[in-house]
Amino acid sequence: MHIINRIAAFHAEMTSWRRDLHTHPETAFEEHRTAAFVAQRLRDWGIDVHQGLAKTGVVGTLKRGNDGHAIGLRADMDALPMEELNEFDYRSTVPGKFHGCGHDGHTAMLLGAARYLAETGNFDGTVHFIFQPAEENVAGGGVMVREGLFEKFPMTAVYGLHNRPNLPIGEFAMRPGPALANADNFGITIRGRGTHAGWPHLGIDIVVVAAQMIVALQTIVSRQTSPLHSAVVSVTYVRGGSTDNVIPDELHLRGTARSFLPEVQDRIQSSLRRIATSTAQMYGATADVEYERRYPSLHNDPDRIASCAEVAKAIVGEDHVDVDHEPGMGSDDFSFMSNRVPGAYVWIGSGPVEAGRFLHNPRYDFNDGILPIGASYWARLVESELPRKA
Ligand SMILES: [Zn+2]
Ligand SMILES: [Zn+2]
Repeated sequence: MHIINRIAAFHAEMTSWRRDLHTHPETAFEEHRTAAFVAQRLRDWGIDVHQGLAKTGVVGTLKRGNDGHAIGLRADMDALPMEELNEFDYRSTVPGKFHGCGHDGHTAMLLGAARYLAETGNFDGTVHFIFQPAEENVAGGGVMVREGLFEKFPMTAVYGLHNRPNLPIGEFAMRPGPALANADNFGITIRGRGTHAGWPHLGIDIVVVAAQMIVALQTIVSRQTSPLHSAVVSVTYVRGGSTDNVIPDELHLRGTARSFLPEVQDRIQSSLRRIATSTAQMYGATADVEYERRYPSLHNDPDRIASCAEVAKAIVGEDHVDVDHEPGMGSDDFSFMSNRVPGAYVWIGSGPVEAGRFLHNPRYDFNDGILPIGASYWARLVESELPRKA
């Protein structure tokens, strides 16, 4: 393993930053303390700081030499709105908020790289350190793009990194092309005619309609999507009724749809609407369908991901970098950035997973052992993408 010595030397300090952030988790667009923590350190190292993009976003800009090239490195800062069940002394002090996805570690690793690059300056060009809010659920990355990230900070490429506890420490994984699916949400409100459950023929029983509808929606993937394309339609929420002997008047379904290709996404959306409304109609009920496209799918630029692979190999060795890792049906709002400029998003191993403590598990904790690996990766990526002229 070729971790940068200078970074390894402040491993303990990076760990203390990470644990400080873990103790004080903040959720979407409320990352005020975290943003101040990041901005203060960047300023201490002589990095220009811009705050306030997407409310709590922070962009640090570091320029060395005369080359006009600029690249962006992105870390996410937000915690999840969930309770932590860990017992260690740096556990969350905020009820109902928890760094359950390791964004505390992502922030600490990018800070570590920023410090090293500011102190050594062994590159020629401009690097923007992008600390984004609200990655979970509400697309803070998309808001940064809408509020002018690429106009205020022009760059030719953007890079992302996420820890993966199901990959061992010392491993990297990535793939060119489609890497993470789009994430769409849907809601269906079914209305019939509520009645006494002993006289069902006097009403319109939407519980039976909902049952048929949930099954019929499963044919979108199994019968209407090419077997060679990936897609998911999951109904995750069913709510309606109040007691044993009343057929309800209204019933709600919610769920998520995932895919990679625009044509598959279009097909899911139109099929879902058609199946929901026509199933309801078949029984004399109605269905209102809402469909929201939340995160676009994430596609890695082949050239940029090839550079990332070389950098990762130089750190952990050729045998520990999977350059053709399988894509995932999860999503990341980094895709709003990589849809605008060539982008590359890689996974860094943070395992092993112990007792099912994967991302978003209430007993998950970021593995501090990978802090210098991730920071070294970021630092070497900058030195190789913005090489110093001889
Ligand atoms: Zn997450
Ligand atoms: Zn995450």
